[in-house]
Amino acid sequence: DQTPIRRALLSVSDKTGLVDLGRALATQGVELLSTGGTAKALRDAGLLVRDVADVTGFPEMMDGRVKTLHPAIHGGLLALRDDPGHRAAMEGHGIAAIDLLVVNLYPFEETVAKGADFATCVENIDIGGPAMIRAAAKNHAHVSVVVDVADYAPLLAEMEAMGGATSPGFRRQLAQTAFARTAAYDAAVSNWMAGAADVATPRRRAFAGTLAQPLRYGENPHQAAAFYRDGSTRPGVASAMQIQGKELSYNNINDTDAAFELVSEFAADDAAACAIIKHANPCGVARGQTLAEAFGRAFDCDRTSAFGGIIALNRALDGETARAITEIFTEVVIAPGADEEARAIFAAKKNLRLLVTDALADPAAGGLAWRQVGGGFLVQERDNGRITPADLRVVTRRQPEADELADMLFAWRVAKHVKSNAIVYVKDGATVGIGAGQMSRVDSTRIAARKAQDMAGVLGLDAVPTQGSVVASDAFFPFADGLITAAEAGARAVIQPGGSMRDDEVIAAADAAGLAMVFTGMRHFRH
Ligand code: 5GP
Repeated sequence: DQTPIRRALLSVSDKTGLVDLGRALATQGVELLSTGGTAKALRDAGLLVRDVADVTGFPEMMDGRVKTLHPAIHGGLLALRDDPGHRAAMEGHGIAAIDLLVVNLYPFEETVAKGADFATCVENIDIGGPAMIRAAAKNHAHVSVVVDVADYAPLLAEMEAMGGATSPGFRRQLAQTAFARTAAYDAAVSNWMAGAADVATPRRRAFAGTLAQPLRYGENPHQAAAFYRDGSTRPGVASAMQIQGKELSYNNINDTDAAFELVSEFAADDAAACAIIKHANPCGVARGQTLAEAFGRAFDCDRTSAFGGIIALNRALDGETARAITEIFTEVVIAPGADEEARAIFAAKKNLRLLVTDALADPAAGGLAWRQVGGGFLVQERDNGRITPADLRVVTRRQPEADELADMLFAWRVAKHVKSNAIVYVKDGATVGIGAGQMSRVDSTRIAARKAQDMAGVLGLDAVPTQGSVVASDAFFPFADGLITAAEAGARAVIQPGGSMRDDEVIAAADAAGLAMVFTGMRHFRH
């Protein structure tokens, strides 16, 4: 169908750009139909509008629950213009064709995000809007449907180029967007009804996203890819603003997420903290008196791996830290802000990506995490588990010293963000050895210690940094061998969940080596 658009129905909650659109359509001789608030806005701007109530012969009723739900509207949207039966029905019932539908829905998602009460949220579930959108999208052979303010300009450009009509390809694209919008809308309603706490009961689940950016490729160059936002209001990589640098890649986004979530364990009013990530695992995490010191200490954990890493900071990037960071090759820096001096220093490094967020993410926040498997997906609550010193149970003869305790809690927070089997050695608020993603815990323990030994060589240290450290294990030691390896590397204290069949053997080995050990009673597997 390439006939010019003659009649448009406009019904929008978000009135942004409405008057300009209405005026442009009216100029092209398009008749405007509208619902209450939209009609008023157009009329106030001096435009000629016909009320939907005038077309249906019914007033808008029941607090707006019933406005456009009528055969005179839905017939006008759904009729096949080239079907004799449909034409006869239109003539027989006095139904006029509607060629363009412009709708944006009641702000359900925003109403929920604002924390409105249940009844208000329910009242903000749009019924007539999605019904019209779906009708128009189904009939995209004849009807154009616009659901986003961002599509007003492209619509007008298309009409301009097509002598007041739209092309079939353009209408089909609009229809695809329209069905994605109604699907996302219903997904939001359904997930809100399920509630965050209710993970296992819902028999059906929907989830949806909005394109944040197309990506050059996926994990590998032969994989096409894109980045979508899910509408969450929690600060994160999806809501971060890119200040400068090359386009983000798929792997950058994945690693930046890991970096930001890890550094968010250390609140902004905590000591300065820095995490350096490679392939979704930290290769250095540290606290410092200053941010620059935190970065330097994180870097010293594993200078080799930090090359081409992703750096996350728990406070706004400052000049001193920016200068130190630019001395090594880094892919991305993410922080809750960046001062002017820091921005100026980074500006000289054109490729270096700088992302800023409004705030850190709340590690204790609830919410769901999804993971795809063959033929399905797994849903679970986010790992927002946190322990306090009161949760710790000392199981060895020796009690941990205060400084050991502080380091154990630090190591434990880091271990939560290391792929299992995770082993993290920490000394004075800085990681000194990290073992990640091994199939056996004893291997992770050995690898972390060996990396610390390597760094002693790089930094020209007399002692291996694991000497006098504490060690965290994300899950229990199934045998004493891992713990013995850690003791041999110089660890003085151990934090781990406990709960192994052989806890007695592990505790005996710790006592024999003079270690202090605490059980958390909580595990942090991460796969
Ligand atoms: P207005 O501001 O023009 O009074 O209302 C516009 C809003 O009403 C749009 O968001 C549109 O999706 C919605 N809407 C249109 N028809 C109906 C209907 O029949 N029922 C409900 N619940 N909403 C409708």
